Amino acid sequence: MGYLFKNISLITMDPSRPEVVKGDLLIEGSKIISIGSNLPKSAHKVIEGRNLLVMPGFINTHTHVSMSLLRGYGDDLELFEWLNNRIWPVETKLTKNDVYVGAKLGIAEMLLSGTTTFLDMYQDMEMVAKAIVETGIRGHISRGTIYTGNEKMDKAALDQLESLIDDFHNYDDERIKVLAGPHAIYTNSKEFLEAQLEIVKRRNIGLHIHVSETKKENEDIIKTHGMTPVEYLNDIGLLDAPYVVSAHMIYLNEGDQDIVKEKGVGIAHNPKSNLKLGSGMANVQKYLKKGITVGLGTDGASSNNNLDMLSEMQYATMIQKGLNLDATALNAYDTLKMATTEGAKVLNISDRVGMLKEGYDADLIMFDLNQPHYYPIENNLVSKIAYSAKSSDIIMTMVKGKPLMVNRELKTIDIEKTYKEVSEIIGRIC
Ligand SMILES: [Zn+2]
Repeated sequence: MGYLFKNISLITMDPSRPEVVKGDLLIEGSKIISIGSNLPKSAHKVIEGRNLLVMPGFINTHTHVSMSLLRGYGDDLELFEWLNNRIWPVETKLTKNDVYVGAKLGIAEMLLSGTTTFLDMYQDMEMVAKAIVETGIRGHISRGTIYTGNEKMDKAALDQLESLIDDFHNYDDERIKVLAGPHAIYTNSKEFLEAQLEIVKRRNIGLHIHVSETKKENEDIIKTHGMTPVEYLNDIGLLDAPYVVSAHMIYLNEGDQDIVKEKGVGIAHNPKSNLKLGSGMANVQKYLKKGITVGLGTDGASSNNNLDMLSEMQYATMIQKGLNLDATALNAYDTLKMATTEGAKVLNISDRVGMLKEGYDADLIMFDLNQPHYYPIENNLVSKIAYSAKSSDIIMTMVKGKPLMVNRELKTIDIEKTYKEVSEIIGRIC
């Protein structure tokens, strides 16, 4: 038993096909089996209807999903003041169960807005993993580390990373991946970064880090180390990890960009968070011209303030046009690529997700185009998704062939119970 999407519009994101095709898509088990026309209906659940569009699910390459709990807490502050005076103090009050509830809230929001894969960094990641296991979303998790200088605490953080790998890496046919997550250069000593690099290489996993998020960070690191953040990471060998996902990367000079390209570092671009924290803006047009791989992320919900990838895409494309005084910068199709195929490359899973293609995992979303903002429907559907779509138009989110949201209803999350739990937590900690 599988699913047959019949005679609908498909944006496959497969470069070997036209941008939009009208046809059928057949899923069996967790995989896409066939894309074509007039596929036989046989023993499958058939989904057909006027004005439906199916495309790959969105890939959120950088977030802190449990921070959904802190949405609206500490707005309108710059990064260091926000972290030091608001976020870090309240995070010390979070219990393991709070992290789990926050993850469920964030996953609910992501499934309702078409995200099928996310990369997370936080504490108590086994609780985020529990939420991923239960809800069916694809999640990559990294144990965020901040060097304390307390030998026992720092060793415990490394031990937790090893346990996460033992318990969850490649769970459910690689639905979960584990990465190391040193928070940033300025929160980790050289030795602590090296200790995490040793684990990453020995266990053959990726590494996820914030780099060059603010001008101040760049200037401080140049002052302390005599090198830019990218040069410093390269100097200590961190960019030789099996793969590196680097969030932000706003202040890269030409030499930094060359290193990033040469080392194959994937960038997670988070335009809304960078705007909201007043951090600045990466010149993505330049990075793409260099051949650097750039995916899109929302960052946490308390610096965005949502986890909506369509909104992130619309900001990303408009900002690049304005920043470069060039209406051709980051066009509609390239924006969709950032949220799908390029995101899959950043997360090192482009051989199984990011496109609708035979043999790929069935991670996909369906839009109901029967809304005023899609008409005239005959024109350019890629542009409609990049510039006009709203996440509330998404009526199905499927991961590995399982529908996790159908007609705006979550199939694996009791959302009313989650709302109640969130309110109880906020009553306690804030
Ligand atoms: Zn972040």
